[in-house]
Amino acid sequence: MKFSTKAIHCGEEPNLKEGGYGDIVTPIHLATTFARTEIDKPTGGYEYARTGNPTRKALERRLAELENAKYGLAFASGLAAETTLALALLKNGDHVIVFEDLYGGTRRLFDRTLANFGLEFSYVDATKTENVESAIKNNTKLIWLETPTNPLLKLCNIKAISKIAKAHNLITVVDNTFASPYLQNPLNLGADIVVHSTTKYLGGHSDVVGGAILVSNDELYAKLKFNQNAIGAVPSPFDCFLVLRGTKTLALRMDRHNYNALKLAEYLSTHPLVEKVNYPGLKTHSQHTLAKKQMTGFGGMLSFYVNKKVNPKNFLGKLKIIALAESLGGVESLINQPASMTHASITKEERDRIGITNNLLRLSVGIEDVEDLKEDLEQAFQKSKLITC
Ligand SMILES: *Cc1c(COP(=O)(O)O)cnc(C)c1O
Repeated sequence: MKFSTKAIHCGEEPNLKEGGYGDIVTPIHLATTFARTEIDKPTGGYEYARTGNPTRKALERRLAELENAKYGLAFASGLAAETTLALALLKNGDHVIVFEDLYGGTRRLFDRTLANFGLEFSYVDATKTENVESAIKNNTKLIWLETPTNPLLKLCNIKAISKIAKAHNLITVVDNTFASPYLQNPLNLGADIVVHSTTKYLGGHSDVVGGAILVSNDELYAKLKFNQNAIGAVPSPFDCFLVLRGTKTLALRMDRHNYNALKLAEYLSTHPLVEKVNYPGLKTHSQHTLAKKQMTGFGGMLSFYVNKKVNPKNFLGKLKIIALAESLGGVESLINQPASMTHASITKEERDRIGITNNLLRLSVGIEDVEDLKEDLEQAFQKSKLITC
């Protein structure tokens, strides 16, 4: 079955058996507990809703299918998924290698929370695979990648890094939120685990917070599944329903996100008030070839540096359609200044070192008509241009 068909049907097959109602859409099962006829035989396999419930199961099966994984696990947020993953697979004294350009909240979780439990994190520029290999130590257990990265849209070679990880018996995790499973499937490239913030493209409508872990290895799944229940950072049945609904249009939405983002990247890259555009779909992107090989499209995220002739703060204030807001991946276009918003939790020295300066703006290109988006950007540029004589 192909992606668009799986995204609509998998996990949500109507129950046409005796006693079923043939619902085309999985019901929102609100029951917190499930009655049984025999002490050791839960009816339909469900006991207590933290452990599992039918709406969550439908979502978990759907997401697993979309990432070509054997198993799916849904969580209350992307960070809940990440926390569970770390607590399930790591212990005091373990070392993790992390791609340095990554979601600010992930870095905050690692440095400010998990580091207090004896976990050690090394941040490397994983655009160069050899940097990952040379960071491996005796206590390294896991490699954490995000590609394309947030907010600089850098890539790392999932296949090459996973191969090195395998040779050293390390687990490779890829945060696939930016690409979505429609554009990239890290498990097919050799990664062990995929993490998603379903808040973004999978939900797709900026109305639900959620997360997921997708995995095929039985042993890893058993540990993660145990901890999903033991820690309990699970999504509500209503949230599961919203993400399930979002996934049905993922392919359509991503095609439009790709189209619009490329158009805007091209417009911005020739703009006299723009210094540089980061978008893997541009031929000028230093990893365009890798993007073509590893992804089936370049996604809806881009970032750009306005030049000295524009005050970024004024520019952001002049936009009318594109909202100044955190988050990404929804149908509506959103823009933010990573240095003061999504990545404010990283120290200024570190931000400067990796290129998250005040004139960097991150754009989550929505699925509006691209001409309207272009016009909105242009009028904001004109109004925020510093007059020079
Ligand atoms: C948003 C995001 C997260 C965190 O997910 P939440 O659902 O907000 O907890 C993790 N990784 C990436 C790349 C994200 O964009």
